[in-house]
Amino acid sequence: RAKMKKGNSYSFYDPALQTLLEKQAELETDLVRAIASDEFCAYFQPQVSSSGKVIGAEALIRWNHPSKGLVAPNEFIPIAEQYGLIQKLQNIVLRDICILIAQLRTENIIDELFSVSINISHCQFNSSTLKTELLNTIAGFDILPAQIKLEITESMLAGDIDNTVQQMEEIKAKGFAFSIDDFGTGYSCLTHLSAFPVKELKIDKSFIDKVLDDATGFSIVKTIITLAKSLNITVVAEGVEALAQHELLKSLHIDAIQGYLIAKPMTKSDYLVWHKTNIANNS
Ligand code: C2E
Ligand code: MG
Ligand code: MG
Ligand code: MG
Repeated sequence: RAKMKKGNSYSFYDPALQTLLEKQAELETDLVRAIASDEFCAYFQPQVSSSGKVIGAEALIRWNHPSKGLVAPNEFIPIAEQYGLIQKLQNIVLRDICILIAQLRTENIIDELFSVSINISHCQFNSSTLKTELLNTIAGFDILPAQIKLEITESMLAGDIDNTVQQMEEIKAKGFAFSIDDFGTGYSCLTHLSAFPVKELKIDKSFIDKVLDDATGFSIVKTIITLAKSLNITVVAEGVEALAQHELLKSLHIDAIQGYLIAKPMTKSDYLVWHKTNIANNS
């Protein structure tokens, strides 16, 4: 570790930190290149009601890297946020959602209650242009704003309540709906949630993982479902992998489930095929 004089302050040269910073800078350059070369797209993971009806899907971004293959969002979303590239990625995902919904509408294989969720990052949620960005991107597609759900996390509701409620009300007034993602992992509680115009919450996978094998896990999930219903909020379980979990969640009157048990996230064209073969089960 060498000490370097920088103006009046001292900083430490830390090789590990230096390597990390270089890696991040490389990733940023690669992201800029990848956006220009159209390497991002949305994958879609279905959501199914407890009666087996296909009610929607979640859009999940993927990076089809020329040498690394398919890169998962956790590896690049934080860097995209840090370097101001997240807006571009959001628009790519939103555009893919519009293309999918428009196609499903043209083929007349969805009703107006079918919706697709998009993950909104905290910087986008805090930006004053979110509403305009949403409206601009969906303009020109034959879709209803109500068919798009914005997934935000509890931590985004931790700031100024009045401002946040106003921002959400304005977006809701245009027809979009809000969903709380990864519910239970933040510090908020359901009573706090009732202050915001929220239509749906998604119970985090970590609770679903524990629902079968521990009494605490079971009561947490049961309590979330009961309280959400009393607030008129629909409840989706995320990360459902086992049939026994699904059965238990159904007995607790969960509204919908999403997880590998139903299907993994897939490309738009694979989703279309999946959708057509699975709406046969619709009730
Ligand atoms: P998330 O929104 O909570 O998405 C659910 C994650 O769980 C997805 O990972 C999905 O592939 C995975 N998953 C779903 N069902 C199962 C299951 O049964 N078992 C297991 N083990 N995993 C399951 P993914 O696609 O890697 O996304 C990770 C996170 O990255 C997302 O978590 C979300 O926070 C973020 N993300 C994804 N797409 C976007 C995007 O377009 N924009 C932003 N801002 N964030 C995104
Ligand atoms: Mg999500
Ligand atoms: Mg989630
Ligand atoms: Mg998650």
